[in-house]
Amino acid sequence: MQYENEMKLEFVSRSANESFARVAVAAFLSQLNPTLEEVADVKTALSEAVTNCIVHGYGDRKDGKDLIVVECKVSGRELYVSVIDQGCGIENVEQAMEPLFTTKPDSERCGMGFAFMEAFMDEISVTSKVGEGTRVDMKKIIGRGNKFDQ
Ligand code: ATP
Ligand code: MG
Repeated sequence: MQYENEMKLEFVSRSANESFARVAVAAFLSQLNPTLEEVADVKTALSEAVTNCIVHGYGDRKDGKDLIVVECKVSGRELYVSVIDQGCGIENVEQAMEPLFTTKPDSERCGMGFAFMEAFMDEISVTSKVGEGTRVDMKKIIGRGNKFDQ
């Protein structure tokens, strides 16, 4: 597929970098003239995906190879966002994506990350392999609510 614009971020798994990624993706998104609500939706979904890499994918691992990649692509009004880690992976993706499912029930996790990503984006697909990592691909059509566009 031919994209009109693309960018790629790579950063180590630190919670400080979650807000960095969120702001960078929002800035990249601005070329599509999004509404404030669309910006908030993408930021929330991105934030959930990156937080999952940090909390679940890598946990306490800080060996310099705990890298998170965020890729964004634009085609027409479609925004594609991928969040990739090389952490522990997910044993059962279908189960992990169920609302309220969490493997960390005793911490502040409530198992709603994937449910938020599904709610705020138009499409999401998750591929994962235990011991190799996880990849979340999301798509959102921007500008549907633009009154000048109808
Ligand atoms: P919340 O997002 O509400 O704080 P949560 O992170 O547990 O809680 P989800 O984001 O829906 O909930 O994720 C569900 C489960 O999927 C997690 O508990 C974890 O076991 C697994 N998971 C999600 N992302 C990853 C990842 N990148 N690497 C490894 N496991 C993951
Ligand atoms: Mg989560």
